[in-house]
Amino acid sequence: MTFHALGLAEELIAAVEQSGYTTPTPVQEQAIPAAIAGGDLLVSSHTGSGKTAAFTLPSLHRLVGRRPAPNSGPRVLVLTPTRELAQQVEEAVKTYGRALRWLNTACLVGGAPFFAQVKQLSRPVDVVVATPGRLLDHLNRRKLKLSDVETLVLDEADRMLDMGFAEDIEAIVGAIPASRQTLLFSATLDGVVGALANKLTRNPQRIEIASTEAKRGNIEQRLMFADDMGHKSRLLEALLGTDGLQQAVVFTATKKSADELSLSLQEKGFSAAALHGDMHQTVRNRTLQRLRQGRIGVLVATDVAARGIDVAGISHVINFDPPRQVEDYVHRIGRTGRAGRDGIAITLSGPRETGLIRAIERFTGDRLAVHTIPGLEPAPRRPSAPRPGGPGRRFGSGGKPGGGFGGRSEGGYGGRGEGGRGAYGRDGHATRNERSHGDRRDRGPRG
Ligand code: AMP
Repeated sequence: MTFHALGLAEELIAAVEQSGYTTPTPVQEQAIPAAIAGGDLLVSSHTGSGKTAAFTLPSLHRLVGRRPAPNSGPRVLVLTPTRELAQQVEEAVKTYGRALRWLNTACLVGGAPFFAQVKQLSRPVDVVVATPGRLLDHLNRRKLKLSDVETLVLDEADRMLDMGFAEDIEAIVGAIPASRQTLLFSATLDGVVGALANKLTRNPQRIEIASTEAKRGNIEQRLMFADDMGHKSRLLEALLGTDGLQQAVVFTATKKSADELSLSLQEKGFSAAALHGDMHQTVRNRTLQRLRQGRIGVLVATDVAARGIDVAGISHVINFDPPRQVEDYVHRIGRTGRAGRDGIAITLSGPRETGLIRAIERFTGDRLAVHTIPGLEPAPRRPSAPRPGGPGRRFGSGGKPGGGFGGRSEGGYGGRGEGGRGAYGRDGHATRNERSHGDRRDRGPRG
C-alpha cells in the first residue's frame, strides 16, 4: 500500500515523501480514505501509531482547491489535551501542508501570552490547534468564531476527559455547525469516551487498531527491583552512565520529585532538566527545544508534561516511579523508539510498588524482563506472590540463596563507564544554563 492509493492530493503526498515516509501505517491506511469520504470516525489508536498524520492529511486534503470565503473562520479545529501535543500537531500540519502556500495555522494553548494569540487570529486562519481551556477563553471573548469549522478532530479524547475537559469540549462543540465532520482519536473507545462519541458524532465508522499493532515493537522493556529510594538513585545514576544512552526521559510521580531529582542529577554532573505542569510555558518550550538540540541529556518529567514528546534521540525511558495509572505506562515508553529507532524502557520498582508492576504486565500482556546491575543487586527477599504468566520462583531465578529479587544479570552496565557519558554535559558537568533550568525551587537533592 502507498500513500497514492489512499486518494490524497499530490501536494500532500509530496510532503509525506519529503518526510521520508513511503508506506502508510495501519491507522493511516484505514482512517485516511474513510476521512476523505467525509463521514465521522471513531479511531482507537495509541501514540506512536502515526495517528497525527492519519487525521492531519485527510483534513488538509479536504481544504485543497477550496479557498475560504472572505472573513471566514478556521475550517479545521484540532483539540488536544496538552500544550506540547498541540504544538507538535501544529508542526505536523505545517510539515504535511508545506506545499499549500496559502495555509495559515494557529496554536492556542494555555500558558502562552493571550494577546499574541489574538493577534494571530486577526488574519485568516485555516487550521486551529488548541487545548480546550484556552480555546474557550478566546471563544467567550469573541476573539474567534467556529461557525466555519468543517472538520473537528479530538486527539487523545480519553486524556482530555481524564483531565476534566468534558464540559469545555461540549461548550466548544456547541459553537460548531452540526454539519461538521468529527474525527475522534483515543486510546480507548469504551466508557466515558464512548458516551462522548455518542453525543458528538453521527453514524461514525469505528476503526480499531489492535494495541499490539500500535505498540512499538522496537522498545525493549525491562524491570529492576530496588530496596529503597537511595538504591533507586544509585541504579538511575548507573543507568544514565550506560554506553549507548543518548538521551533519557526519567519519569517521577510528582512535580516536586521531578524538580528534586533533576537538581540532584545536575549536582552529580548530568545535563538534566525538569519538565512539569507548574513551569511557565516559555520555560517548557525552551526545555523541549534544548532537548531536541541534544543539549539536555536527561529530562525528568511528569506524565502530563511529557505526553506527545517526539525526539528521536531519546534512547531510554526510565520510570523512576512506576506509573500509578497503567495507561500512562504505554504513553511513557512511547517517548523512546521514535522515528523507527530502537528504545529501552526501564521501570524501577521499590518493594511497595510490585502491585503497580503486576498491573502494567496485565494491561500490556507482556512480562517485563528483570535485570540487575552487578554490584547494585537488590537485597535478598522472601519471594512474593507469583507474577502473572510466570513461575512462582521467578524472583529467585538469579540463583541467590533465599530467593532474592535479582533475575537476569545485566553484563553491559557497570556504573559510569568512561566512554559512556551520554547523559552528561560535554565536560561531564552541568553547565550554568542547565542548572538554571526547570524552574526549580530551592530544595535539597533527593536522598
Ligand atoms: P504519532 O502516532 O502521530 O505520534 O506518530 C509517531 C511517529 O511516527 C512520528 O515520529 C511520525 O513522524 C512517524 N510517522 C508517521 N507516519 C509514518 C509513516 N507512514 N511511516 C513511518 N513513520 C511515520
